[in-house]
Amino acid sequence: MRTKLAAGNWKMNGTRAMLSELDAMADAAAKGTAEVLICPPAPLLAAATGHGQVAIGGQDCHSAQSGAHTGDVSAPMLADAGARFVILGHSERRTDHGETDAAVRDKCKSAWEAGLTAIVCVGETLAQYESSNTLDIIGGQLAGSIPDAATGHNLVVAYEPVWAIGTGKVPTTDEIGNVHDFIRARLERRFGAGVGRSVRLLYGGSVKGSNAAEIFATSNVDGALVGGASLKAADFVPIIDALNASS
Ligand code: PEP
Repeated sequence: MRTKLAAGNWKMNGTRAMLSELDAMADAAAKGTAEVLICPPAPLLAAATGHGQVAIGGQDCHSAQSGAHTGDVSAPMLADAGARFVILGHSERRTDHGETDAAVRDKCKSAWEAGLTAIVCVGETLAQYESSNTLDIIGGQLAGSIPDAATGHNLVVAYEPVWAIGTGKVPTTDEIGNVHDFIRARLERRFGAGVGRSVRLLYGGSVKGSNAAEIFATSNVDGALVGGASLKAADFVPIIDALNASS
């Protein structure tokens, strides 16, 4: 049985004043079995810990454990600040910083060495979606971005169509289900049925309280990676509640 996961990505938003939002999220987390995670900007990590059952994660890490990399944050630093998770290969990192699958794979190894669970993001662009290349793209990203030592504990995969992030556009639940079934099959083929069935698969891209229940009822969707609607408890709590209400 996979534990459901509601993960919030605050991106480059928030100062310490915003951490008060975590209190109501913690209350919602205490009411159900779904895991609740917030990934704030790195300067807020340590201050964001200690809010009940709300786990904390980073939004990226360097592939090296330490060294001469000005401005970067390493996986051991995230763990030391109280993080248990780290998002890797988000499309904004792939676009803004030219992150390749190989770079994401190296970061993932570093995250695992530090004891973090990596949330590896995959997703097609609008042009790739419109030319029916979604599964080829996702298959390539999975193969290239995930190292060999994956387990159900150290890996979460987030399917985030680039064209759905922050746009209000969402694939149909049939489309989401097809991609999630494909990801599950690829993980089972590569890592074996035991590991493949234990890795949690999140959908991300314009998830809101109003569409969460139908997304969570979709095949192989174990939760969501949420951007905009994770910034305020009033928006994120209905998503947490919908995940707890899903079977
Ligand atoms: C994201 O950035 O991972 C994301 C899914 O954003 P949004 O929920 O705002 O579409």
